[in-house]
Amino acid sequence: MKVKALSATAIKDFLQCRMKIVFRYDREKDSIRNDHAKIGTAVHKALEQFTLRMANKKSFPDPSDYEFAITCFMNAATEEGLENLDFYSDGRRIVTDFVDKYNPSEDLLAVEHKFRLETPDGIPITGSMDKVIRVNSDTIMIVDYKTARNAATPFELQGDIQLSMYDLAASMLWPQYPNRLLRLDFVRIAKNVNSLRSPDQRLLFRDLLKSVWKQINELDESDVTGRLNSLCGYCDYKSYCREYSKFVQNPDLPLQPLSEISDATFLEHWEEIANKKSILEARQRELKMIAHEKFMRGEAIIGNGKELASTQQSRTNYDIEQVVELIPKEDLLSVLSVNKSRLDRYSKDDLGLKNRLANIAQISYNQPVYKVRVVKGSLPVEEVEDEPTNEDESAA
Ligand code: SF4
Repeated sequence: MKVKALSATAIKDFLQCRMKIVFRYDREKDSIRNDHAKIGTAVHKALEQFTLRMANKKSFPDPSDYEFAITCFMNAATEEGLENLDFYSDGRRIVTDFVDKYNPSEDLLAVEHKFRLETPDGIPITGSMDKVIRVNSDTIMIVDYKTARNAATPFELQGDIQLSMYDLAASMLWPQYPNRLLRLDFVRIAKNVNSLRSPDQRLLFRDLLKSVWKQINELDESDVTGRLNSLCGYCDYKSYCREYSKFVQNPDLPLQPLSEISDATFLEHWEEIANKKSILEARQRELKMIAHEKFMRGEAIIGNGKELASTQQSRTNYDIEQVVELIPKEDLLSVLSVNKSRLDRYSKDDLGLKNRLANIAQISYNQPVYKVRVVKGSLPVEEVEDEPTNEDESAA
């Protein structure tokens, strides 16, 4: 199978299901996109055109700039065929918030920069960067806009294929900047999450490109079948996919495909699962108490060729004053970390220090916690919260 160049999307498709690659590149099927994908495209276009306009003006936005950005969004959204009116007001708010935050002092190196390059290993890569900012003489920042409702965690971004692609492409496009900061700007919720790639991570990504490129080129379309996976419900090609169609039409299928349920059924299902989960967790706590008592008495729990085994994790701590004695001063920064609660207590009465610390604070986001809540003016519904998983307990 012939693909002209590898994009981050092609790699993700390939790793998820090879049939997607066949649909996308070989049969040139039209992807069937939902309103979530369409609002993303429309917001991207509006932000791109607004940023280009402001790059020429180099000033804070005035009312005509707001109007320009919103018009760009509306035009792009109607062109995309966005159907849900709520999405239009959502998009207008996202674009307005973006204009509110616009910083004319940004040193823009590129806006919507499309690239087509060949890696040092001879692999053609392609993509587009939303914005590239020159931070200083050594550093650039590559920004990608996201319209997701939750920010990714820095841990998740470490393995993000799109950011690795930007890092590699930027290292070839602008080699004069040895430092490349990779930023996802979650414009819907006004949150930024940053990431970096080390030389080892870049080499690993180049190896991944080589492997994927070889396998795609060796792919024989007639041998490929769909690989059902948890993201099938969101696949742009599911309407063409034989495996997906067989799966959802199976009369024995106990679960309705999640992508096709209404919001009301989704919430009902959510609460049902949350309730069952807390009942099961309470039951598991009781089982653990009994197991603990038996183990403390030296008894085992054995049956049907199986037994309950227990492991205990240890945690090692060091006294900071003793560590400081042992490590050379110049290496201390690489092994010590700042304790936020203690720092807050220390700076509590020193406003100047508090402000200076606020300026250098780095904010990151954990996994979101979801909660069903009552919508104003509707019938009261009991709140059901999705508790963050206690790894300690779930591993037991
Ligand atoms: S629906 Fe699932 S199996 Fe079918 S092409 Fe898409 S990802 Fe592959």
